Amino acid sequence: MCRTTGCLLRAVVLGSGTSQGVPMIGCRCAVCRSTDPRDQRTRASLYVDDGVLPFLIDTATDLRTQCLREGIADVGAVLYTHHHADHVLGLDDLRRFCELRRERLPIFGPASTLDVLARMFPYAFEPAADASGYVRLRPQAVDAPFPLGSLTVTPLPVPHGRITTFGYLLERDGRKLLAYLSDCQAVPENILWTIRSVEVLIIDGLRDEPHPTHLTTQEAVKVARQVEARRTYLTHLTHHKSHRHREAELPEDVAPAFDGLSITLC
Ligand SMILES: [Zn+2]
Ligand SMILES: [Zn+2]
Ligand SMILES: [Zn+2]
Repeated sequence: MCRTTGCLLRAVVLGSGTSQGVPMIGCRCAVCRSTDPRDQRTRASLYVDDGVLPFLIDTATDLRTQCLREGIADVGAVLYTHHHADHVLGLDDLRRFCELRRERLPIFGPASTLDVLARMFPYAFEPAADASGYVRLRPQAVDAPFPLGSLTVTPLPVPHGRITTFGYLLERDGRKLLAYLSDCQAVPENILWTIRSVEVLIIDGLRDEPHPTHLTTQEAVKVARQVEARRTYLTHLTHHKSHRHREAELPEDVAPAFDGLSITLC
């Protein structure tokens, strides 16, 4: 059970923005100048608390400010989707959680992503008995369902331009609680089947115009329909449309995510 809400699972969208974030540096468009806090989109990541092992999906560039903003004081593991900068550059901020837990944090992801992380942050992977003072990680490559806290986590390989990223399905006692697919250009048939009838779907819905590595808003809604997800949130959003305008255009069961969106499953 989640320690904050007493529910089975709580997920918090730490960042709902595309790789450059919104507002974008030097942009004077209406969305970048918006005073609606939901139009402040930091880089995409998710926090999940099942009451057993709180964990992150990705360590976005803005991780430190995201954790301070949401009052996150404990993280016990990280699932990585892929190695693109916006999803990994907050890795060094895991240092604080290593200190608090006095342990090496387990990190999970595709073998190729963990290899890149070991090259980018070699000091985090060095063997050392003492975990205090530095970020210390324990990489575990995954390509099949594995247990994490009270959950079963299933990696969901999806195409993202020239690379394959992982989405993740979180299940408990046979209930498909949440599927997270932050960076994908399509969702293959077998993945649609795996996440069919999921209770909450958080999916890439970059913008209206086609993009070579991301789903459009309309394509994401189509996936939501195919999957028959109970609730769907679009993430990895650009500055092309305000939260208010996107929300008004979407069907009732689909909404744009925003930074700080808290989702509970009881
Ligand atoms: Zn991304
Ligand atoms: Zn802008
Ligand atoms: Zn990416």
